[in-house]
Amino acid sequence: MSERRNARIKLTRRDFLTISGAAAAGIAFPSAIAAQAVPGPNKRKPNIVLILADDLGYAGLGVQGCTDIRTPNIDSIAKNGVRFTNGYVSCPLCSPTRAGLLTGRYQQRFGHEFNPGPESSAHPDFGLPLTEVTIADRLKSLGYATGIVGKWHLGYKPQFHPQKRGFDEFVGFLAGAHSYLPATEARMSGSILRGTEAMNEPEYLTDAFARDAVSFMERHKSVPFFLYLAFNAVHTPLQATEKYLSRFSAITDGTRRTHAAMLSAMDDAVGAVLAKLREIEAEKNTLIFFMSDNGGPTRQTTSSNAPLRGYKGQMFEGGIRVPFFVQWKGQVPSGKIYDHPVTSLDIYPTAVVAAGGMVPPDWKLDGVNLVPYLTGENAGQPHETLYWRMGANHAIRHADWKLVVERGEPRPRLFNLADDIGEKNDLSDKVPDKAKELDTLWQTWNAQLAQPKWVRQAASAQGPASGGEALQLRFRALDRNNDGKLTSEEFPRPQVFKQMDKDGDGVVTFSETQEHLRGPVTRE
Ligand code: CA
Repeated sequence: MSERRNARIKLTRRDFLTISGAAAAGIAFPSAIAAQAVPGPNKRKPNIVLILADDLGYAGLGVQGCTDIRTPNIDSIAKNGVRFTNGYVSCPLCSPTRAGLLTGRYQQRFGHEFNPGPESSAHPDFGLPLTEVTIADRLKSLGYATGIVGKWHLGYKPQFHPQKRGFDEFVGFLAGAHSYLPATEARMSGSILRGTEAMNEPEYLTDAFARDAVSFMERHKSVPFFLYLAFNAVHTPLQATEKYLSRFSAITDGTRRTHAAMLSAMDDAVGAVLAKLREIEAEKNTLIFFMSDNGGPTRQTTSSNAPLRGYKGQMFEGGIRVPFFVQWKGQVPSGKIYDHPVTSLDIYPTAVVAAGGMVPPDWKLDGVNLVPYLTGENAGQPHETLYWRMGANHAIRHADWKLVVERGEPRPRLFNLADDIGEKNDLSDKVPDKAKELDTLWQTWNAQLAQPKWVRQAASAQGPASGGEALQLRFRALDRNNDGKLTSEEFPRPQVFKQMDKDGDGVVTFSETQEHLRGPVTRE
């Protein structure tokens, strides 16, 4: 396999950047030059360890400014590698972020725009669409042993199971949240699975995930491995054991103390993973990523996003800018702070290239290989523009400018993050041309996206919707700018749109939609 790859045209890192950037822009390259350099025959491919925290806010770690909870093990990844100060996820919620993370693509391109809600009320179509090729699929095809330990949240049905999506092994749970405590406690979302078999997990869940992660690395130490360790810490429910709670007797607030204990357990777990890498003498040849899947839900868990505005679920920085580090000794600098914006979508191409893979243009990735930027080989910035959309809420960051549209707010707000990291000063009146420029850029990106395949959790979690509720949900999902009217751009079927627009004013109101559905059904 690798000999065949070596026989192809070898590219420099700069070539790859050009190609991956062009691929993101949809520019076609002849397939031959999409080949990518691979390590020489005697150099073993690096292991890849992707550690994802859940609902850990921007200020949640010592190295990010947290003062009352020590996180030396997680911090060590930043200290031995690169800490991103402008590291973003592609959504402020769990499941869509994971869809982007594991595909390297904006998840709205394939309709994975919302959380699904619990299994009992999830939309029947929910699951990472089978059209998508995951990072695990790619690495597996490059000879990697692939394993996920932890939270999946990308589909409940058998066809969406992690072992159908490129992972050889799976220990964890399928839902968006899970109890941490053993069997005597009520489990939120069913049992822990080992593969497809339910098992009774006797350990505190974060400890159990550390144990299984270490076991995976031990069992696969003779081959390159990809470990996706997706903790549910520090997501609710707030549960910890005395072992960890006792470390924080000085914290009097009960919520904060439990959060601290849960985070401390995760830090221990990361410490166990790092210790195992040292033990199997793989520390140097392992590319390690650590990040959170979205900002902290501060009110519920105390996880802080300071100095950012907002929290989990919002398009303000507090929802989407997260702790994000990469360590790869000898390959990326140690102790470097990198300020240009980067995104969770970059992990996929960075890992695949590190593994000696190719990134052909037809993958249409939105992420780029970060390594040349971190080594200084490329002095430019990985992304001039980043985009977000979750229903009626959306945002765009273009250089230091950010335009934010939050549901219920009368108009888009414009901020300059260079001198207003807390998004306090809305400049949309002062520099309307800049607001317009960003809006135009966002609209161009938005026009490339698919319709959501299911609606958001809050709506679907209310249970099976009645006919009227279902129509409202569908209407709101289509009504991207939340103005209560559908335009022909928002409604994908022109013939039906024309029929629905009874008064012919070019927009369709909700009552026109109802009226249309009451009348005889006319097909396109
Ligand atoms: Ca989350």
